Amino acid sequence: MRVFGGNRPKEPACDCCAGGVLGRRNLLGAGLGLMACAAVPGGAEAQVARGARRLTVRRAYTSDSFSGVYFADGRYVADALSKLDWVFRDLSREEVTPMDPRLFDVMNAVAARMEATEAFEVISGYRAPETNAALDRRNSRVSTVSLHMSGMAGDMRLPGRESMGMARLAATMGLGGVGLYRRDGFVHLDCGQSRRW
Ligand SMILES: [Zn+2]
Repeated sequence: MRVFGGNRPKEPACDCCAGGVLGRRNLLGAGLGLMACAAVPGGAEAQVARGARRLTVRRAYTSDSFSGVYFADGRYVADALSKLDWVFRDLSREEVTPMDPRLFDVMNAVAARMEATEAFEVISGYRAPETNAALDRRNSRVSTVSLHMSGMAGDMRLPGRESMGMARLAATMGLGGVGLYRRDGFVHLDCGQSRRW
């Protein structure tokens, strides 16, 4: 069994939850306050780019990156998704899973709204159940049912941008789950139900 983390700095862990059920602590928690949970008029579909969709990401702690088109001509580009899956892999186990490409759509839409061209720095992507369990033992905040385990979530930041601003904007878009981890300076984004904490 591999030792979690190896020589790599330990990833800060979010406490994302699946299914949109928020605990009281989450609701009262980290800085987003009690913003309303209504979806943006027009829904998520209207906010996703209709033409080619690009994404630029870089993995924290490694040199892995992707910059390019992952959706074109009405379909996801398999080769691009494979590269993104690698960037979003579970680093502690070097385990790759097919990520839900709707997560990339959420990121694409958020980047477009922020007019961001810089790379998302991905702190955590896919988490194997064993990794999530290890995080859970280290940090009681970590959900035992995490969308990271389903390849539907990522913890990330946009270097040079305030995480608070990114979280607020993403939350108003209502595309999925948004969690602000102000102390660690990152935002959890997922393509599950619209919710925020
Ligand atoms: Zn997360």
